[in-house]
Amino acid sequence: MIASLRAAFSGTVLTDSADTAAFLTDWRKVWTGTALAVATPYSVDDVAKIVRWCAAHDVSIVPQGGNTGQSGGSVPRAEGQNIVLSLARLNRIRSIDPANNTMTVDAGCILQTIQDAAADAGRYFPLSLGAEGSCTIGGNLATNAGGSAVLRYGNARDLCLGLEVVTAHGDIWDGLKGLRKDNSGYDLRDLYIGSEGTLGVITGAVLKLFPAPAERATAFVAVASPHQAMALFDAMRARHDTALTAFEIMSDMCLGLVLDHVAGVRRPLAMRAAWYGLVELSGNDVGAGLESSLADALSAGVISDAAIADSIAQSRSLWQLREAISPAQAADGGGIKHDIAVPVSSVADFIDDALAAVAAAFPNIRPVTFGHLGDGNLHFNFSAAAAAAGADQVAFQATAPRLNAIVHDLVRKYGGTISAEHGLGVLRRDEADAHRSPVERALMRAIKTALDPQGIMNPGKMMP
Ligand code: FAD
Repeated sequence: MIASLRAAFSGTVLTDSADTAAFLTDWRKVWTGTALAVATPYSVDDVAKIVRWCAAHDVSIVPQGGNTGQSGGSVPRAEGQNIVLSLARLNRIRSIDPANNTMTVDAGCILQTIQDAAADAGRYFPLSLGAEGSCTIGGNLATNAGGSAVLRYGNARDLCLGLEVVTAHGDIWDGLKGLRKDNSGYDLRDLYIGSEGTLGVITGAVLKLFPAPAERATAFVAVASPHQAMALFDAMRARHDTALTAFEIMSDMCLGLVLDHVAGVRRPLAMRAAWYGLVELSGNDVGAGLESSLADALSAGVISDAAIADSIAQSRSLWQLREAISPAQAADGGGIKHDIAVPVSSVADFIDDALAAVAAAFPNIRPVTFGHLGDGNLHFNFSAAAAAAGADQVAFQATAPRLNAIVHDLVRKYGGTISAEHGLGVLRRDEADAHRSPVERALMRAIKTALDPQGIMNPGKMMP
């Protein structure tokens, strides 16, 4: 059987366990599956040939980009006949149109490569996340990734004008349009974006570019509570409007994990605080504006301290403290994660209520709370009690259903979502489905059946 797959296209087919292992386990090392093979095509035609081969042999396809996903969508399950279709070799920047402010790319391009190519062309591609050195734009679009600049530029969906997709039948749909207006029928692009590989394989995309910001100003601030962070956010948004590019929050516990587990980082402020904010403005003359806003916040008692980066290197160091939280929590023994969002106006109340409810049920648990306060998305994570970290992770993980119920019931009470930017994968698939209305479930099922009638595209992910 594998011999016929090898003959079907001109890329590589990996079957040795030493070669395939990395493709079969996710980044968090929570899910491991099996596959007949890992196929790595070099062209869109090759992708189409692989999909046709799979359809003919009733083999399921798990599209995979950088395998940095957090919900288990990118690795196969243990049962069934699967292949992993890695887009890693489909990694060309196809073209840049500076006058149209667009870039057309292969789906396997690494996000950082795209950011760099935009910068080389005197433009800016704003999607930015901790995994940008290894995640791919195909994966970003398939999960509708968010990241740290959503506040100003929106999520991956907002940054994509056109798509190229190999359908579940093995046809190539060329929707690579660079248009800002296009009302010509159902929006197929938006159907594939966020579909987590369950409807087709994204092979190319037209991305929106922006003028490179003239200046960026970054600060790390100390606040006593999430409510104080909200007060600073409100003041900064009112004063700086769209120049406010990012507003992140993290607890002291998060900073402690980073300082403990990441080499070469140091505490940015002399004094510890219960919470910290990472604030970025971008545009013309934003440095002076940031300084005066923070001086006002300091005299009003909204913040207790602030460090303003005075170089790009310092700004990067401040961002590293935020982006290293996930790897630091992993190095600390892992945890139970919640990728939730509530309306921005409710973030502080939600944090207070949810931390109190969890502490009442699990007195020794360590909350690892951080996220994108400016768009309402929190990574509301927890680690095992310090002494037990590493000692009894299995018992800790067994508390997940009770812990999830406490957090997610409150999320729903606040009108939020249990999956803000990581997708449902297998992690949140069943819970999301249980809370769908019958109408919504039927519509989702109808779309899946229409676009993937054989059910070969990433089965068991996103929907039961
Ligand atoms: P993969 O993990 O390979 O796949 C993810 C899903 O997309 C799977 O369901 C897969 O089947 C599907 N898929 C992948 N490629 C394709 C394709 N070409 N066609 C169709 N389906 C495809 N995410 C955020 O949104 N914001 C963050 O701030 C953020 N920070 C992170 C920080 C760290 C340290 C890490 C490890 C992850 C973070 N993530 C974040 C999660 C992750 O990086 C994103 O979900 C990313 O978009 C996944 O891209 P990928 O190429 O690794 O996709």
